[in-house]
Amino acid sequence: MNQDFDYDLFVIGAGSGGVRAARIAAGFGARVGIAEERYFGGTCVNVGCIPKKLFVYGSRVLHDHRVAAGYGWHGPAPSLNWAEFIANKNTEIARLNGVYRRTLANAGCEIFESRASIVDLHTIELGDRRISARHVLIATGGWPYIPAIPGGELAITSNDVFHLPELPKRIVIVGGGYIAVEFAGVFAGFGCEVAQIYRGDLFMRGFDTEIREFLATQMREKSIDLRFNADVAEITRTANGMNVRLNDGSQLGCDCVIYATGRRPNSAGLGLADCGIHLAESGAIKVDNEYRTTVPSIYAIGDVTDRVNLTPVALAEGMVVARRLFGQRETTVAYEYIPTAVFSQPPIGTVGFTEEDARHQFGEISVFTSNFTPLRYTVSAEKERALMKLVVVKATDQVVGVHMCGEDAGEITQGFAVALRAGATKQLFDSTIGIHPTAAEEFVTMREPTR
Ligand code: FAD
Ligand code: NDP
Repeated sequence: MNQDFDYDLFVIGAGSGGVRAARIAAGFGARVGIAEERYFGGTCVNVGCIPKKLFVYGSRVLHDHRVAAGYGWHGPAPSLNWAEFIANKNTEIARLNGVYRRTLANAGCEIFESRASIVDLHTIELGDRRISARHVLIATGGWPYIPAIPGGELAITSNDVFHLPELPKRIVIVGGGYIAVEFAGVFAGFGCEVAQIYRGDLFMRGFDTEIREFLATQMREKSIDLRFNADVAEITRTANGMNVRLNDGSQLGCDCVIYATGRRPNSAGLGLADCGIHLAESGAIKVDNEYRTTVPSIYAIGDVTDRVNLTPVALAEGMVVARRLFGQRETTVAYEYIPTAVFSQPPIGTVGFTEEDARHQFGEISVFTSNFTPLRYTVSAEKERALMKLVVVKATDQVVGVHMCGEDAGEITQGFAVALRAGATKQLFDSTIGIHPTAAEEFVTMREPTR
């Protein structure tokens, strides 16, 4: 390794991507430094995937209690101690922070608990200290964005939602993407009155239309007040909470407004423009397919590049950068058939082409669907349906889309992503024996095309 620099690799940001790259690079013998200004583990561990999933689990308890009645279990509904739940969640997050820090230290990375910025091609500033590195990796993630609206300062974002001092009774959620639908489900599950405001015709743009429509129906069944083609004109404080005025003049009283209107790359104040790193209009760092920025010694991965903003993708990118730089391995990230789950209630699991995109890309397709009440709900008054869907190219019989909205969708879709990446045909799906009785078996037993 090159001794002209203090480090072979300096990583800015100890989130999903940065920690993975630092650890793997150190494993190859590189001298690695890493700076983190806020929390080890980044967004996913502190204000993202992990606390979100704990919120989802917590919010399912009342639902499960109602289902239990159908199985003959009776008793008063359990009562929630919000402060205790948040404290338990915080304990788990603190444990994970420690795990991430120890992982870096055990791998031999030098840790700086400080904000870092770039001075020039090989120089990093950490407070009043400057260090040099042969390669620099920017993995600074993203930050919630709230559009400018009167009273916008009264709204909170996903960063704050995990630390609410008490559970609000009435909540307005603005946005129609992952975070908005996940929190609409969470707070409805906790028993809050929830309204979700989305500016377009139908939320979850980019997902399969039939799945989006199905989720909307299921969420309305849970009394979530979904308002499409609506936007917020103004938020004001009132004697007993807040008032949200919509652009059609209607008003919603509430205790809390959550904005989930996307995230912006964390690229400001890093000194990027001064050293010649090009950014897109959104602030995303532009990279080539080896994650190199417009400055060859400086790389960027994860949400700060604003491509596929998911933890497993940031991890994979971090791994590839470390392997290419220090492991002499020409690996790449497989961006085709990235599976994803939305932890709405019921959740969505999806991999591959939507029906609309497949028709556009491949021409003639067959679509197989199954819309049913899962066995668990057959004996209970509490219902949640499931929709499962396969998209198949007629000419080749290849399955190019697997979509589901229903319980365990995330767990079920993961395995099918492997099949799609392997190019599985519908005939192969059909000849695969199902696991009975499960919802997943529907994917290998759909015989007659719906259209
Ligand atoms: P991050 O994890 O954001 O890490 C960036 C780190 O850099 C942060 O720790 C930050 O403090 C630090 N940093 C920034 N600037 C500096 C600086 N100048 N100096 C030093 N340190 C700095 N993805 C999924 O796959 N599944 C999910 O279920 C899921 N749920 C989510 C739920 C929510 C509410 C949110 C907000 C996101 C969710 N995501 C989920 C997305 C996922 O969290 C991100 O895609 C992932 O964390 C991106 O990793 P990253 O390494 O690019 O950045
Ligand atoms: P998304 O990009 O998913 O959704 C943003 C939503 O806000 C869209 O509905 C968008 O509408 C709307 N919007 C954007 N700007 C405005 C505006 N000015 N006024 C009104 N509405 C607006 O972002 P999220 O914040 O929900 O999540 C950020 C990312 O984090 C996700 O895209 C995903 O990559 C990741 N994530 C992943 C999760 C998972 O894997 N389960 C969970 C949570 C987050 P339109 O569609 O019309 O543009």
